[in-house]
Amino acid sequence: MEYASEGASLPSGPDAKKRRVCYFYEPSIGNYYYGQGHAMKPHRIRMAHNLIVHYSLHRRMEINRPFPAGPDDIRRFHSDDYVDFLSSVSPETLHDHSHSRHLKRFNVGEDCPVFHGLFEFCQSSAGGSIGAAVKLNRGDADIALNWAGGLHHAKKCEASGFCYVNDIVLGILELLKVHRRVLYVDIDVHHGDGVEEAFFTTDRVMTVSFHKFGDFFPGTGHIKDIGVGTGKHYALNVPLNDGLNDESFRGLFRPIIQKVMEVYQPDAVVLQCGADSLSGDRLGCFNLSVKGHADCLRFLRSFNVPLMVLGGGGYTIRNVARCWCYETAVAVGVEPENKLPYNEYYEYFGPDYTLHVDPSNMENLNSPKDLETMRSVLLEHLSRIQHTPSVQFQAQPPNTEVPDEVEEDMDQRTIHHIWNGEDYESESEEDEKPRHHDSAINDEPVENSGTRGIQNEIKEERISSLEMDEPPSCSV
Ligand SMILES: [Zn+2]
Repeated sequence: MEYASEGASLPSGPDAKKRRVCYFYEPSIGNYYYGQGHAMKPHRIRMAHNLIVHYSLHRRMEINRPFPAGPDDIRRFHSDDYVDFLSSVSPETLHDHSHSRHLKRFNVGEDCPVFHGLFEFCQSSAGGSIGAAVKLNRGDADIALNWAGGLHHAKKCEASGFCYVNDIVLGILELLKVHRRVLYVDIDVHHGDGVEEAFFTTDRVMTVSFHKFGDFFPGTGHIKDIGVGTGKHYALNVPLNDGLNDESFRGLFRPIIQKVMEVYQPDAVVLQCGADSLSGDRLGCFNLSVKGHADCLRFLRSFNVPLMVLGGGGYTIRNVARCWCYETAVAVGVEPENKLPYNEYYEYFGPDYTLHVDPSNMENLNSPKDLETMRSVLLEHLSRIQHTPSVQFQAQPPNTEVPDEVEEDMDQRTIHHIWNGEDYESESEEDEKPRHHDSAINDEPVENSGTRGIQNEIKEERISSLEMDEPPSCSV
């Protein structure tokens, strides 16, 4: 492994400083199973974790097991009846009258099935993002990662697009307890509709989504959707076409985000790293390489603002694992070797067994002219908020470097899978059906922040206490 200080490609930002990185991982996350033929496979998070461990990246971060989000934590965004439903439904009780009458209302069924352990899965995903926010709020980390988070389609009262609980909204609500302005950036191939909708009427959260637009799920995210009321100009949408490549993406992402950082001056940033924008995704249609995708994280990291990094979509699971492993390396500031270390899921990565894979030769339907026009329109939108931030931007206190953690034998044990080793290649290609949602504006959740009993204390345990042979270590 080459280190940033040795002139590899990774001194991110002008200071090239190390960042204190905190990583959330629930060891059982890969056992949850949406059902046969379903494109969403939580196993990909375990595959990413396995690569991370075999590249020894875990030695460069603090590893935490998320404390499960409780129903009251989840109710900070979601409605009581929806949370009651999620916490009580199971495949066995699905067709009981008490549940079956709600399936349609909560949009639970085909895309968002009821599977074994559904609520626990949601609790882990949301617990990781809330825990990440708590770490950043306390100034205990510069970057907090939760690859089980990023479930951006979930709505206040309904499931959508494989998402049930919106961990991102919950994480942002937690950040807003301490941070005046939070920037949300979404690079999933799908529009980040649930997060945009939640904060559409407030200027305390700015949402920026880069996504495929036009006959594609969820159907929202038009360039003219910019927020309403106090939130006007604080939502930004970058609608793109098939075949988006690294060069086109970087030519939009960097100038737009540079401008957003200048005019909005966020106190914290949340990046949703949905990996279905990678080349060759089973559901996506972009043509990004892992490095092109990770450039977003590299660029945002360079501003040295507290940064939460989340997962999201991603349906060609070997590439999802590659991407989130590489992005973990970018977060900690190292450049991993291209040759993959031997790992538990090595056979997935043939025939090359490399971290990086070449994009395809698909046509880029985003013409230079269209991209230039879009960049101009978006920069014009941004110029409208030139003078808006009402609170003086406060520079973060200098960061303190922490020594590298020494952890051993993590993830070396065999995990008993509920998941049966099904190979996604054997499944037929499936498409998400485009669905249109009203951009109905919810109650402004920012107003409620701090009124519920979300944890104020760090409650997560050190994951090492579970997976090491030694006796459990103390909680942080
Ligand atoms: Zn997606």
